[in-house]
Amino acid sequence: MEFLKQWVSLQVDLGQFNGRKAVYGFALKMTFRAVLLAFFLSIAALPLCYQLGFMPLSVPEAIKLSVAFSWLFGGAVSGALAIVTGQVIHDLSVSRTEFERLSRTDMLSGLLNRRAFNEELVRTNGQASLAILDLDRFKSINDRYGHSAGDAVIVAVAEVLREVFKEPHVVARLGGEEFGVIIHGGGIAQRIALVERARNLIAWRAVSCDGQMISTTVSGGVAEFGPGLRAEAVYSAADRALYLAKANGRNKVLHDEGVEAFPAWPKSELDDSLAIDGGLPASG
Ligand code: GH3
Ligand code: MG
Ligand code: MG
Repeated sequence: MEFLKQWVSLQVDLGQFNGRKAVYGFALKMTFRAVLLAFFLSIAALPLCYQLGFMPLSVPEAIKLSVAFSWLFGGAVSGALAIVTGQVIHDLSVSRTEFERLSRTDMLSGLLNRRAFNEELVRTNGQASLAILDLDRFKSINDRYGHSAGDAVIVAVAEVLREVFKEPHVVARLGGEEFGVIIHGGGIAQRIALVERARNLIAWRAVSCDGQMISTTVSGGVAEFGPGLRAEAVYSAADRALYLAKANGRNKVLHDEGVEAFPAWPKSELDDSLAIDGGLPASG
């Protein structure tokens, strides 16, 4: 039984099992094999039938009957079963794909979630920047307009980010009112310009909620990926720049390579203060 299960699962590539064609292809393949198996079993049973005196037909007639019956009944029954099985496997593969999509999606914004973003982070190297964006004084929006208005602001900000950072860039909601973007290609200046564009759009576009217009801003920290640089190090650097953007008035984007320009927060001190959460944030 275990062997049979293993064999059937070898015939099924769930990744490829996504259409009617795959279902019927599977059914045809399995039916053909079932018929062949039925035929060989009935031929193998013939000597026993003769020995026990069950078989009233001659050998050639019995073989002809075996061929006919294995195709007629064996084929019909196993064909029907294989189509049903194929349909069930197809449904399972669709729900698995949907499950995988949901497990990588943030439910409120529809962006990637932190788990998916972490996977993208470790996969990224070369010409790319990481931006971490955090809404400014978001708690006061919740306090003043209510939690669902806060949610509407998060959704609106996600919309702007989706609009500015189309593929191949990667946008995610990392949790709460914090977003992460991996910006691919171009030069550093072009990548920062994109983040600035997003920051400006967010600041200019007030969100309408229950007849009120709610304005918000974001602060951003940017750092560069590079050969040999670990994702954790890039994340810490962007987080450090974000911390400085917050500390220096908010509604601004700072690049990690420019943080020495802010003498009030020397880099070495920040390294110490951020050492405790220097790793990638845990996926939820
Ligand atoms: P800062 O400018 O320093 O980032 O201040 P802040 O108020 O934005 O940051 P703080 O971390 O103090 O508050 C974040 C708030 O975001 C607190 C939390 O209740 C709220 N929040 C987190 N997740 C959600 C969410 O999914 N929906 C809503 N409406 N609020 C959320
Ligand atoms: Mg905030
Ligand atoms: Mg935050």
